[in-house]
Amino acid sequence: MAKYPAHLLTLLAFLKKFPGVGTKTAERFAFQLLGWPESELKKFSLLLSELKQKITYCEECGCFAEGQGCFYCSNGQRDKKTLCIIASPKDVFPIEDMKSYIGLYHVLDGLLSPLDGKNPENLRVGELKHRIESLQIQEVIIALDSTLEGDTTALYLKEELKKWGINATRLAFGLPMGSSLDFVDGGTLLRAFAGRQTF
Ligand SMILES: [Zn+2]
Repeated sequence: MAKYPAHLLTLLAFLKKFPGVGTKTAERFAFQLLGWPESELKKFSLLLSELKQKITYCEECGCFAEGQGCFYCSNGQRDKKTLCIIASPKDVFPIEDMKSYIGLYHVLDGLLSPLDGKNPENLRVGELKHRIESLQIQEVIIALDSTLEGDTTALYLKEELKKWGINATRLAFGLPMGSSLDFVDGGTLLRAFAGRQTF
């Protein structure tokens, strides 16, 4: 690939780290960036360099936080007796878009996958137990992907929750195995929430 200057090659390598971005798309992005005014590129690079610093995580629920206070935990309008368990902070957004769930969240920080070294102690399970007790949670909704890891994690949580005297419901996806929250449209997610069932 001698056709590109070294700096451009490095940029292409970074762009190709994005999901679904191959060489062709990376080239399109890179040429687009080269066409931006210097001031825009400076703003963009500053934004990237501050990303991890500016976006933090709520110590309680694990959702994205910015500055002081968590949008969900410190919101007086939320139902503090209902907890929705999600794998990653990004899963909050499709659920919030439904505009029908008003409870709290708990981010697990991944799914069980023993082969990849993801065991219960690597997930925020201890924090979950602590919150269920201190908040006196009455309903737990498990909103995990309908994949092998999602199912394994849901079954594990169901058993743990049972020990703590809590019955959990799981979203009724009505979709084939392998469906992820990322790709479920709003209407389907709303039905999945409404049709959640004990399992
Ligand atoms: Zn929070």
